[in-house]
Amino acid sequence: MAKSAFFCRGVGAASGMALGASMAVLAVGWLTLLPPAGRYFGLHAYAATVQPKPGQHPAASAARIEQNGDRAKLIFELSEPLDVTTFVLADPDRVIVDLPQTDFALDPETGKAAYPPHRKTGLIASYRFGQLAPGKSRIVIDLAAPARVLLATCDKVDSDGHARLVIELAKTDRRSFKAAVQRARIQLAAMAQPNKAQKPEPESAKPVIVIDPGHGGIDHGAMVKGLIEKELVFDFAKAVAAKLDADGRFKVVMTRDDDSFVPLAERVRMARGGNAALFVSIHADTLSSAADVSGATVYTVSDRASDAEAARVAEKENQSDAAAGLDKTEEASDVSDILFDLTRRETRAYSDFFAHTLVNYWRVACRLNKNPRRSAGFRVLKAPDVPSVLLELGYLSNEKDGLAFTSAQWRDKASSQVAEAIKAYISARESGATVTKTAPDREPIGKIPSAVP
Ligand code: ZN
Repeated sequence: MAKSAFFCRGVGAASGMALGASMAVLAVGWLTLLPPAGRYFGLHAYAATVQPKPGQHPAASAARIEQNGDRAKLIFELSEPLDVTTFVLADPDRVIVDLPQTDFALDPETGKAAYPPHRKTGLIASYRFGQLAPGKSRIVIDLAAPARVLLATCDKVDSDGHARLVIELAKTDRRSFKAAVQRARIQLAAMAQPNKAQKPEPESAKPVIVIDPGHGGIDHGAMVKGLIEKELVFDFAKAVAAKLDADGRFKVVMTRDDDSFVPLAERVRMARGGNAALFVSIHADTLSSAADVSGATVYTVSDRASDAEAARVAEKENQSDAAAGLDKTEEASDVSDILFDLTRRETRAYSDFFAHTLVNYWRVACRLNKNPRRSAGFRVLKAPDVPSVLLELGYLSNEKDGLAFTSAQWRDKASSQVAEAIKAYISARESGATVTKTAPDREPIGKIPSAVP
């Protein structure tokens, strides 16, 4: 009984059933069956529909929320019935719905908090959906209050095999919610595969440059008026990588080479495992309260944020794993022996040196933020032995920056500056230059054009 509530009915890939059997344990004690729904709802219904693209995966063609007081339903129209599993996570409070890989033919902004039907008035504050891993998709529901899953069903609605996924939630108290989270954690830990021993990468004769396009898959990053951070930073990162590849002196590694989700810790592992000479993470910011703020900012890691704005950006970018519905991972405790400390200090000095170089190359061709060098506790920059910076290309919320982001000409020019800065940095290191945190600013190279798009 619990199982049928916990899973969509009907379909049964072997792996799905095995997962079903183990996850069903989670249901005991906190999952309750309700009679067929309908009577609590009817208010605030809203549908967003886009024609599904033909593809090899099942497709979701529409999604809507129905909220009424302490109850809420999230409904997806699907091309076929699917097996789903649900569980809850805290910090922040979320309901996670896992399903086989699904093509979401939906406006990615459909589930945003600002969307009219779910302005934090009900249980569901916002939701998002997308690919989590090959073969696996996920829906993450951000809760405005602790909730339990009353129902998760996926039934056929017509003779063509179309199906409707219904996730029904009810408000619960904090204690019950925490208990459900605890049960989910135990179950997830039991299911987690032990870490495969990672094969060390073969040593590269060329310096390894890791380019890290932020976000991906279910984690869209910032979204403003059709501009989606994960897409624009991916295109930008590809342009930088192509320019470095063309040079021939580097081995270039991208942390993702398609629209897939990669956890932050995995990105750091790729830099460390690959013995990278440099790690450059690419993002784009948004600031809805200040549309006039514009320009690029180069961030490095620090224990204390350089200013409130840097702290805000780090907090936002560190949300990536939570956005994808990952449990709060225990941060690896810092090894505090003196050798480690020395390595880290040296790494940070090199990171600062590259950040200065990047700012000076960038300002030649593109707009900088009025305070373009900042630092804060970015998780993705925490490799103790790989110099790492995070470049925020600018602000999606700013009109001029937004125009630049959609211009192929701007992308070509700006990505060239990043590639040139990387080449200059590697040349400096290969010539044996020692750097200190107080390395002086370099003069800008060339002239600053008067009109920057
Ligand atoms: Zn970002």
